[in-house]
Amino acid sequence: MITAKQSSVTKFMELVEKRNPAQLEFHQAVYEVAQSIIPFMDEHPEYKKANILERIIEAERIVIFRVPWMDDEGNYRVNRGYRVQMNNAIGPFKGGLRFHPNVTLSILKFLAFEQVFKNSLTTLPMGGGKGGSDFDPKGKSDNEVMRFCQSFMTELFRHIGKDTDVPAGDIGVGSREIGYLFGQFKRLTNEFTGVLTGKGYAYGGSLIRPEATGYGLLFFVDEMLKTKGDSIKAKKVVISGSGNVAQYAIEKTIAFGGIPVTASDSDGFIYDPDGIDTDKLAFLMGLKNKKRGRIYEYAEEYGCTYFEGEKPWKIPCDVALPCAVQNELDESDAQLLVNHGCKLVAEGANMPTTPDAITLLQQNGVLYAPGKASNAGGVAVSGLEMTQNSIRLYWTREEVENRLRGIMQNIHKQCMQYGKNADGSVDYLKGANLAGFVRVADAMLAEGHV
Ligand code: NDP
Repeated sequence: MITAKQSSVTKFMELVEKRNPAQLEFHQAVYEVAQSIIPFMDEHPEYKKANILERIIEAERIVIFRVPWMDDEGNYRVNRGYRVQMNNAIGPFKGGLRFHPNVTLSILKFLAFEQVFKNSLTTLPMGGGKGGSDFDPKGKSDNEVMRFCQSFMTELFRHIGKDTDVPAGDIGVGSREIGYLFGQFKRLTNEFTGVLTGKGYAYGGSLIRPEATGYGLLFFVDEMLKTKGDSIKAKKVVISGSGNVAQYAIEKTIAFGGIPVTASDSDGFIYDPDGIDTDKLAFLMGLKNKKRGRIYEYAEEYGCTYFEGEKPWKIPCDVALPCAVQNELDESDAQLLVNHGCKLVAEGANMPTTPDAITLLQQNGVLYAPGKASNAGGVAVSGLEMTQNSIRLYWTREEVENRLRGIMQNIHKQCMQYGKNADGSVDYLKGANLAGFVRVADAMLAEGHV
């Protein structure tokens, strides 16, 4: 039997699909949110009357541009650049830049849409946006990456600003790329402002920003486990990815006494049953951040197993932290996790778990945290970087980390408040969607029909 909720969501999704044809990732992100918000709006006619849901899925502005650059052999190359300015009801647009060959408008719209709710959950004054390019920094020289970044910023600079839109990093955009982008912005505008976050400490960055998403994820997991009178100590933790988020998720897992046993990249994963310890993590960071090598080299160094072309979810664990890419954990992966007794899945990446997988986890009593809540630590510290830039001060590591922990605890509290089920259990997805929505929707109501 189709319930009234299902039929309203289906009707709404038909409209979304018609207006945004073939944008599958965007449909998926909207569907995840609509499921929670449509029934909520039935109880809150003020949002329905103002047509907030249809307005919130429409980007304020999207810029698409050509990015010409020259490779080291003197060949003319071209990529496509984007900035999706989704919603600025509660603050300037804010969200990362992704450089990856599979970047499309659909992927950036899904990311920008999720970002609106995530930024709202931090309670900092930041709207939502996202951008990037189908440029692949992998295999390019530093000079090629610099020329690309300079060309990208030569168009983007007109559309961003410290009070307008403040980009940051994401997949393929780390400290090297942010440095080149910031340098070109400064040159074009003759201004030294906090227009990008994730900057190096030497030129306005915040301490703990590189660590923030991974650390924040573990602070959130800690809160989830506390509600069960449990902790991460001695738990086996399966982590995907080996980039920024995964590296610091591994670091904080170790600090909390957990045992991280996997890491991956787009070619496969390594399984280290003894656990990735601090020394091995230092090797992994050097491999990925300096040598820009592949994950199998970790297995060669430490004599553990490398699974080519596979995902780590088949390794038995207590906690799973997907920290690589969207849709990397599907229904069959979720079934493996359930079969092996996994108790908690928290997303470090954006939308890594497919809708079917989420349902399966929730139905089997696995605690599940959506990225918009559990990976909000990165943008939270970006917000703190903006504050430090505005007051022209640097806070200490302790100060930033304490604020980050407080923000993650507060996000957890909001999820509990809005996501509590009648039986006392918590639906973190519903909680994050509703808490994120209410703040933005109230601001949109107050600002009128804009
Ligand atoms: P990085 O570029 O530093 O790392 C990305 C990792 O994901 C790499 O290990 C990469 O492997 C792997 N990966 C990429 N594509 C695939 C694929 N198709 N299959 C399997 N693995 C893949 O990015 P981040 O760590 O910054 O970002 C990871 C995720 O976290 C993204 O979803 C991002 O949106 C999200 N996120 C990041 C935040 C941040 O502060 N950086 C904040 C919040 C969310 P390879 O090297 O082979 O490409």
